[in-house]
Amino acid sequence: MIIVPEKEIAALLGRAEAFEAVESVFAAMSSGVAYNFPVIREAIGHADALYGFKSGFDRSSLALGLKSGGYWPGNADKGLTNHQSTVFLFDADTGKAKAVVGGNLLTALRTAAASAVSIKHLARKHAKVLGMIGAGHQSAFQMRAAVEQRSFEKVIGWNLHPEMLSRLEETAAELDLPFEAVDLDRLGAEADVIISITSSFDPILKVSQVTPGTHLACMGTDTKGKQEVEAELVAKATVFTDQVAQSSTIGECQYAVASGLISESDINEIGAVINGNHKGRTSVDEITLFDGTGVGLQDLAVASKVVDLAVEKGIAISVDF
Ligand code: NAD
Repeated sequence: MIIVPEKEIAALLGRAEAFEAVESVFAAMSSGVAYNFPVIREAIGHADALYGFKSGFDRSSLALGLKSGGYWPGNADKGLTNHQSTVFLFDADTGKAKAVVGGNLLTALRTAAASAVSIKHLARKHAKVLGMIGAGHQSAFQMRAAVEQRSFEKVIGWNLHPEMLSRLEETAAELDLPFEAVDLDRLGAEADVIISITSSFDPILKVSQVTPGTHLACMGTDTKGKQEVEAELVAKATVFTDQVAQSSTIGECQYAVASGLISESDINEIGAVINGNHKGRTSVDEITLFDGTGVGLQDLAVASKVVDLAVEKGIAISVDF
């Protein structure tokens, strides 16, 4: 069995590899050769933690396994990341344990890759202004991946907690882009692409604030009860997602579906666009929305890539198991 510790991931997997792995697995999901198993997520009644598993199998790449982990709110005080995850891979031919891979950085990279895939396939070609809602840990990863998909000239951002906006400003500076903190009216009016990556349980962005032609990547809503944009905005947009079943139950579409504004059949798979089975954006005025709920197959895809690279570079730890 191979072990790839968390500390090795940064040197092994870059944004380009993560993007390629996530785009391929979304395509495989839409073709029906890869599928996710039902998600388990439980409040364990200890340390205020939420713990669970995301798992699946990709018959084309033979990636089989799970990501185990969750959220420990007290970790920051111990000098640890609140979100903790580990990916376990199994040999699809024998069921034997194949690899254990640190999953923290991988989660950030695969989540940023998902919104970048949506920008590649759905945003207008000449998008110039990137709008960021959210300034937490994930936001910097999101911004870095997004700017590789279009020639953005400026980043604007809003966050409920303004003291966190320095993260967006610093990341934009690292990318050589000007940054401006704005209110939500300006963000909606000026941004060509909007990424939301927050822990919000109430709609932040209203339908009235978003202009025609915008592409939204709603990335924060991954649990029942969370919400980042008004359900009316979801209903107005042409909606795409990683997985329809998650989108309508734990993703950004949950309120629009529950209130009858849209039905599951209105939600399209991003994989269908990648495979050429859905046209994606059909006009410059259309609002497109990607509901990135986060699926286990994304984790397996990037972890498999990391294992291959670790073996290739001779830094994989091998143990008899
Ligand atoms: P973080 O804790 O570092 O940052 C949280 C962000 O949400 C900050 O911008 C904070 O100001 C904002 N926020 C907190 N409470 C809010 C509220 N009530 N209303 C509006 N904004 C609020 O978290 P992070 O690591 O940046 O992750 C952000 C979110 O993305 C989390 O909710 C996480 O569960 C989700 N996430 C989704 C995926 C996916 O695949 N879709 C993957 C990883 C994380």
